Amino acid sequence: MEVGKELTEDMWQAIVKNDATYDDKMIYALKTTGIFCKPSCKSRMPNKVNVSIFNNVKEALSANFRPCKRCNPTKERLPDHEWVDEITKYIEANYNESLRLQTIAYMCHGSPYHMHRTFKRIKGITPASYIQQLRINKAAEFLIHTDRNIADIAIKVGIPSTTYFVTLFKKISGFTPKDYRQINRNYKDVL
Ligand SMILES: [Zn+2]
Repeated sequence: MEVGKELTEDMWQAIVKNDATYDDKMIYALKTTGIFCKPSCKSRMPNKVNVSIFNNVKEALSANFRPCKRCNPTKERLPDHEWVDEITKYIEANYNESLRLQTIAYMCHGSPYHMHRTFKRIKGITPASYIQQLRINKAAEFLIHTDRNIADIAIKVGIPSTTYFVTLFKKISGFTPKDYRQINRNYKDVL
């Protein structure tokens, strides 16, 4: 019985050259060994006639092939650290928008629950706290280096409610935004 997709010349070249750019496009399995690999796998070059191609790991598994121990194709696509870096970058680029965890998770290709757990394990802080911290840090810079009013700064860092902004700022920095600005300016004058 034929399983999987047709093996095109492109796919075959990807397998021959261990081309990692094909890793998220296909999986190849060997009828002889019953094992499937990512295109980038450095295992011995297979005989072309024994190769079956699948769109993804799930398909290969449901055709009763087993994952290769060497290239570990069933592992998450990205190691957790890289994934968390990606999430962090997304947050840093969008902290001034109304960021919802669901959106971040969606944009970074994960479930909100998994993202929350992984982020916390690696950064030691939840994504929500990280966002708050980042917003307050940015707000602190605006308070010191600009004359923008507080409501304006709140919006600028993605917090539309001034009242909430003031509460959060105080909770995280220990000062109200107004005091924070004053103290830091006085300090600068002394220097
Ligand atoms: Zn392999």
